[in-house]
Amino acid sequence: MARRPLVAGNWKMNGSRDSNASLMHDVVFEARNFPDVDILVCPPAVYIESVGRMLEGSAIQLGAQTLSEQGKPGAFTGEIHGGMLRDVGCTHVIVGHSERRALYGETSNIVAAKFRTAQLCGLVPVLCVGETLEQREANQTEAVLMEQLNAVVSLCGIAAFKTAIIAYEPVWAIGTGRTATPQQAQDAHEFLRAQLAASDAKIASSVRILYGGSVKADNAETLFKCADVDGGLIGGASLKSAEFMAICAAAQMREK
Ligand code: PEP
Repeated sequence: MARRPLVAGNWKMNGSRDSNASLMHDVVFEARNFPDVDILVCPPAVYIESVGRMLEGSAIQLGAQTLSEQGKPGAFTGEIHGGMLRDVGCTHVIVGHSERRALYGETSNIVAAKFRTAQLCGLVPVLCVGETLEQREANQTEAVLMEQLNAVVSLCGIAAFKTAIIAYEPVWAIGTGRTATPQQAQDAHEFLRAQLAASDAKIASSVRILYGGSVKADNAETLFKCADVDGGLIGGASLKSAEFMAICAAAQMREK
């Protein structure tokens, strides 16, 4: 089945009011050239609302980089509830980014709880999964992907993937300039899809699986040509309008 490509920008802890305005000015203008691509931007929480205003009238969607796993708002200092993200215009939220797993102690169970809360709040979760270099070299890639994916399937059920996105992000490729080869990406994406297909073939064939890890203008096209790669989750290159737009152009050109 044909899956609409998605290019999502994860700004991480970058940006300022001025740089956001300049970046969004260019991206909103150029995005009209890519009608066959869904585009999503995920600014730091403090800028979500103002970036949302910059996106008004465009088709670009707005997401957050994480949310609280708590089901209800309340006494959780520093946390942000999914309902608040909806309130300021988010439609999507990244969950389980490897930086959150590695630096902030997010276990697969916490990630699964965040995924569930996101959906209960009406947000589309972008579930990040991926192995470290050590795990890849020890031939544990599939076991790691299975563990990260199964934590969500167990808690939320396979039907939850009707309205979710997966991002395969090998940790060794994030922010390193070292990209997975198209074959490595395809193998991992195919594996993830097969895992879901074991429970529900229709959902597996419709879920979008993005590749993330040093995607740039010059490697996006070959990655996006892979049968099971449905676009990208872009970190560093999403902060440069020309790079980000070139990646969107690669997604627009993709023929499947
Ligand atoms: C990311 O942060 O999800 C990411 C893929 O980063 P980069 O593109 O910079 O490797």
